[in-house]
Amino acid sequence: MTKVYNFNAGPAILPRPVLERAQQELLDYGGRGISVMEMSHRSKEYEAINAEAETRFKRLLKLDESYRVLFIQGGASLQFAMVPLNFLPANGTVDLLMTGSWSEKAKEEAAKIGKVHEAASTETEHYCRIPLPEEIHLSDNPAYVHMTSNETIHGVQWHDWPEVGDRPLVADMSSDILSRPFDATKFDLIYAGAQKNLGPSGVTAVLIRQSWMETAAKTPPTMLRYATYAKNNSLYNTPPSFGVYLLNLVLGWIEDSGGLEGMAQRNERKASAIYAAIDNSGGFYRGHAALDSRSLMNVTFRLPSEALEKQFVTEATAADMIGLAGHRSVGGIRASIYNAMDQEGCEALASFMQEFARHNG
Ligand SMILES: *Cc1c(COP(=O)(O)O)cnc(C)c1O
Repeated sequence: MTKVYNFNAGPAILPRPVLERAQQELLDYGGRGISVMEMSHRSKEYEAINAEAETRFKRLLKLDESYRVLFIQGGASLQFAMVPLNFLPANGTVDLLMTGSWSEKAKEEAAKIGKVHEAASTETEHYCRIPLPEEIHLSDNPAYVHMTSNETIHGVQWHDWPEVGDRPLVADMSSDILSRPFDATKFDLIYAGAQKNLGPSGVTAVLIRQSWMETAAKTPPTMLRYATYAKNNSLYNTPPSFGVYLLNLVLGWIEDSGGLEGMAQRNERKASAIYAAIDNSGGFYRGHAALDSRSLMNVTFRLPSEALEKQFVTEATAADMIGLAGHRSVGGIRASIYNAMDQEGCEALASFMQEFARHNG
């Protein structure tokens, strides 16, 4: 089997040891003679996996009993609607920090339920940066403030959290959750689709502060209420059990790899290899993100022409570096280098970039 460097944006690369462990256990989980996929979600075995995933998540983020971790289906896209259904009254306002395509999607859904206020936006600059503190104008009494910690498409990332006072803070962390240590207690709710940094598609992790959850609307249908998942340990109905099992293995891998500090060190070194290739190219590569807003997860850049960008992707693919075409909405190149991507892959891409610039610059 040839080694493929997987730069896909999502579903994305998974840690090799996790896939190998899943392969070993695929036909026979823990000597039971059946796969995790074939087990009752009410079995002792599955309940242990489900409980371990919540425990590991909270341990990694140093969260105590005042938080719950829930596993929900429907992706981050369902959370765009589920958060306002639970926390945004029809006559209430949500303050939005607009930093790219995903914050726009979150806005569209919230606007169907209540009032939206753009507290800051860098749209006129093509979302090339995160707003500065003095550019954020929060309303006095919003139901909550919503932000996207890492914009997967534009490649910009928050490196200092916004100051929101005592307003509840909600973050879409789909593409950078568990990539670095941070104070999770600043947030009342964090959600993340698993398929970037946590596991396979089909599971969404939601961290929620219990006391805030208790203030949620009681009117949404059962399956759209966080309280339903919390009360039933995410087992109200049949969960995406194989996905939660894989997610639990990924959390174990993060713990074994130095935890969030380990991830952060690894991710900084990885990203700097590729950003250096951009910065040292004499202008051949142009990074999309402003220096202080560069994402350590999605590195986005342009070449001198669209024809060269096409050629770059074709030649990279031939060299077994896949998934490098930018999102169809913005074009260019995007290297997604989530937790599971290693230094070797980033160095390989950086060398390829140097070679490509030498031949085509
Ligand atoms: C991928 C992504 C989404 C959408 O996730 P789905 O699971 O496809 O709904 C939302 N927000 C961010 C930041 C993402 O990266």
